[in-house]
Amino acid sequence: MKFRGTSKIVTFYTRRYGKLKGVAKGARETKSKFGAALEPMTLVSLVLYKKEHRDLQLISQADILHRHKSIHSDFDRMPVALSVIELLNRLTHEEEENSLLYALVLETLDAIDRAPRNAVNVLFAFELRVCSLFGFAPALDRCVACGRSLEGLEGKGVVLQLPRGAIYCPACSGPIPVFDPERLLTVRRSHHGASEAAERAGTIRLSMPALQILRRFASGNLAGVTGLEYNQEVGNELEVTLRLYLRYHFEEFRPLRSLKMFHIALK
Ligand SMILES: [Zn+2]
Repeated sequence: MKFRGTSKIVTFYTRRYGKLKGVAKGARETKSKFGAALEPMTLVSLVLYKKEHRDLQLISQADILHRHKSIHSDFDRMPVALSVIELLNRLTHEEEENSLLYALVLETLDAIDRAPRNAVNVLFAFELRVCSLFGFAPALDRCVACGRSLEGLEGKGVVLQLPRGAIYCPACSGPIPVFDPERLLTVRRSHHGASEAAERAGTIRLSMPALQILRRFASGNLAGVTGLEYNQEVGNELEVTLRLYLRYHFEEFRPLRSLKMFHIALK
């Protein structure tokens, strides 16, 4: 963000202190010592004067450790990587150190940077891992009611219960009412913070191909998921399902702006 004359306020996600905001004085001058180091999605080594109980720290130096070249030059990868950063910003509070999340973000940006194709798969896998880190990954292996394995299962699809992250197999999901995910997505949040969708304890239907891809996202390594292929219909289903799941489980979650940009890129 622009700040007072020629300065900038920059948000960092740090290994040591979690999310931090700092002022970079003179960063918008043409011959600024900060140069390109303050661009989004750049890994930097930071020198700052950190004072307790101060919202804005003073950044005195930022040196680039790694710049993801493909992310910055490729219009397919850029919105995907921006979505990762945006999600990170929304899901974290300032000064809450989380070294696992820090490592996951680095691994995710690297995987997007190197993805030969399907960079968006890395974002989907990242979202599932974030759920895992915060302790509410959906249980995609077995039916919660009968315990049957969902691996390689065929049929008309399963039911995902968002609050519990539980799956009901085709045999057990018959009597469960389901909501239209597209409608749930457009439901506005109430004044009390919780979305209407959450209040109604959303259950949605998930097609078998979408379930199997989600299972692969959850189990494979981040770089490997770029090899997973699916059609546009399944892609939409995956995106809507993860969106709803994250929105249900994270208070702060709202639709991502970067992903809208991604849709524009697809058209
Ligand atoms: Zn079952």
